[in-house]
Amino acid sequence: MIFDLEPCHFGAKCNDMYDRQHAQKYSHPSLCKQQCLKGMCDQTNDLVHSSSFIHRNPCKYGAQCKDIDNEKHSQEYEHPSWCPNGGHCQDTSEEHEKSYRHLPTCKHFQKCLDYKRHDKNHCGKFRHYTPSCIYGSYCVNFHDQQHIEDYKHPFPYPCPFTPYHCETYEKFIMSKDPRQLKDEINQHCLNYSHVCAFGRNCTDKDPLHWEKYIHVPRCLCPYGNQCTKLVQEEHLNSFTHPKIRDIRFL
Ligand SMILES: [Zn+2]
Ligand SMILES: [Zn+2]
Ligand SMILES: [Zn+2]
Ligand SMILES: [Zn+2]
Ligand SMILES: [Zn+2]
Ligand SMILES: [Zn+2]
Ligand SMILES: [Zn+2]
Ligand SMILES: [Zn+2]
Repeated sequence: MIFDLEPCHFGAKCNDMYDRQHAQKYSHPSLCKQQCLKGMCDQTNDLVHSSSFIHRNPCKYGAQCKDIDNEKHSQEYEHPSWCPNGGHCQDTSEEHEKSYRHLPTCKHFQKCLDYKRHDKNHCGKFRHYTPSCIYGSYCVNFHDQQHIEDYKHPFPYPCPFTPYHCETYEKFIMSKDPRQLKDEINQHCLNYSHVCAFGRNCTDKDPLHWEKYIHVPRCLCPYGNQCTKLVQEEHLNSFTHPKIRDIRFL
């Protein structure tokens, strides 16, 4: 039937090709194979190619588009393909979420019993991942084991003795060149996270430091340098002061 139709004058550039009435009267080129298969075409600058095949514009909402399952909308706009990691995908970075489609998130996340039982039907419908803690590096719930198990944090498992009672960390932080210390000490400080002694005032730019330390955003003492309680340990342990570490080993 389609061969009887008169080719549309506007070809691949036609604005009305998804209009049912128009499409019944005129024929239009087919979709670019490369764009359909790979999600992008590298010949769009080639005039002959771009007028011989239809290139859909990418939908500006990408994978998060609400109309992604709407047939008419998805015919008109290009949308990202499904994530190759399927329902197991743990990557919740903004970049990744935009570039790939994912199944809807199961409200029980990885605590879901059906997920633990590998229920095929359920796992084919929902995505299971460990959600990220919204406080990230600044999370104060680091001694709440349930919280640490339920949420993803940028730092490794917190040392049970941090902030005040870890002797290994104390040796590490007091040393002029911690890398020269015994391997066990370095191992401990890389395997477990500790509370950074500078907290809110931390000026460390080393990404490794931010990967291994918890930064507790304590309240700033309203009196700052003028504070009259700078000799009171208890006060120093509750408020942050300029040029004084949050955590001091005596
Ligand atoms: Zn047309
Ligand atoms: Zn193409
Ligand atoms: Zn869309
Ligand atoms: Zn993914
Ligand atoms: Zn589930
Ligand atoms: Zn947290
Ligand atoms: Zn420790
Ligand atoms: Zn720090």
